[in-house]
Amino acid sequence: MGEGKSLPIIGGVAFFLMLPLIIVIAMLFTAMGSLGNAAECNSGGTEGAAFGWPTEKHEAAQGWDDDGPEKHTGLDYEVAKGSKVMAAEEGTVVSTEGDWIKIRHQDAAVETWYEFFESKSVSVGDKVTRGQEIGKSGTGTEGAPGLGGDHLHFELRVRTGENGTGALQPQDPTDSVGADATTGTSTCSCGGGPLVGGNNQEKAFNFFASNGYSKEQAAGIVGNMIHESSVEPARLQNTPPGQLTHPSEARGSSLGWGIVQWTPAGKMINPSMEATSNDEAKVESLEWQLEFLRKQLEGEGPLAEGPAGQQVKAAQSVEDAAVAFGRYFERFAGSNDLSNPRYTERKNTAREVFETFGGGDAPAGGCGAGNGDIVATAKMLAWDTPGHGKDEGDATEKYQRAMPDWNGSTGDDPFSDCGVFVATVMRMSGADPDYPTRTTSVQENYLRTSGKYDVFDDITEDQLRPGDILIGPGHTYLFVGEFNGYNAASASLHGHVPQAGNTYSIGQQFAAARLKNPPAPKS
Ligand SMILES: [Zn+2]
Repeated sequence: MGEGKSLPIIGGVAFFLMLPLIIVIAMLFTAMGSLGNAAECNSGGTEGAAFGWPTEKHEAAQGWDDDGPEKHTGLDYEVAKGSKVMAAEEGTVVSTEGDWIKIRHQDAAVETWYEFFESKSVSVGDKVTRGQEIGKSGTGTEGAPGLGGDHLHFELRVRTGENGTGALQPQDPTDSVGADATTGTSTCSCGGGPLVGGNNQEKAFNFFASNGYSKEQAAGIVGNMIHESSVEPARLQNTPPGQLTHPSEARGSSLGWGIVQWTPAGKMINPSMEATSNDEAKVESLEWQLEFLRKQLEGEGPLAEGPAGQQVKAAQSVEDAAVAFGRYFERFAGSNDLSNPRYTERKNTAREVFETFGGGDAPAGGCGAGNGDIVATAKMLAWDTPGHGKDEGDATEKYQRAMPDWNGSTGDDPFSDCGVFVATVMRMSGADPDYPTRTTSVQENYLRTSGKYDVFDDITEDQLRPGDILIGPGHTYLFVGEFNGYNAASASLHGHVPQAGNTYSIGQQFAAARLKNPPAPKS
């Protein structure tokens, strides 16, 4: 048959035939990368999975199977009827028809589908967070190789056409489902290490100031905390300062408990006891509670409060941060009325916190963020020279810490992804907390349709302003003005981590996008 001779031809043909598949796989990785907003803050480098487990059982009884004539296009978890079913990643419920719940994720080309419910606790249009319960599992029969009886059938669906169009095709989710961001005992922090400070107020302030919040924002949070609990972790509402109420005593109370007075107390205590195997001392420690709160504000865990976190991170002053935390996180009685005198008290206390603890530099290892300054943030995260590699370890130490926190991409080479870098800068600086985490096409669409940006297609190099986002087919970077002899900062997928470089193809290949109302940069 002359195989030796024909192989190269077959190889060549096969390569072209396979091109669409290669693109599909690349898109899948890209799409999944953008889902990783769970930001498992892991300066150590272990990556969280793109999706959490949809049930408390983590082993699928029936896996993906596309070998035989009958296929199984998902994973079956054999859980008793009435078991908790959880969203595998944050997203929006797009269907609850029939046996199904379908959730569309941040990258609209990706959905997760769940089948067989006893009851559903979400409706179309609901926003859900990773790990949030969406219903109780039920019973159903699939054709073999799928299961019959009590179980949950789970699917990952991805649009495989150009730019995220086309039909939603099932993909094997096996390697994408894993460590659930809602459990586990992350010791996450940008700075890591023990709490720093002479008392609980200062420790709490330093914790947030070194975990991605500006000092103003940290003061706003702690100013509220002082009014809630005097920053006493074992304090039950309506008890005097210094009186301890341990988790097992407080968990049944309808009152508030802990540094931010989680109400009712069990709302925070129950998942914490579960996660620590009933370690009361840990649950009533300041460390545990600060980390629990930090994750809430990042939109993680069983009590996700991502929108409140974004409001705090958008605040530019101590006073605004105090109001944002009171209004969007604490939601104390009367908080809808911004003239409520409780706001004045909290603002004043936050100001005192800032004056008392905010004088020095943020503790070592702090990420520093939220000042609205795109240029300063980009320069802080990027090397000021070119020529660096593409791996995580090649990135500046600050970017290694900041990217997981502020972007969270865990897909294909996230540390060298251009869009991930621009998004990390936009989100971390506070200039635009809503900036899509990944893929230039998604970002370009956002820049052109969000209403927040002016987009200049025919711009010349000398018309650029520092902070402009340059975006074109397949690449995006930042114009930062003078930067150690260069004028731009960029990463390049598979090429290099964020670093200095020069602008090119302005107004031809690349349009410039400029925030219409940038937050005023502060020194
Ligand atoms: Zn199944």
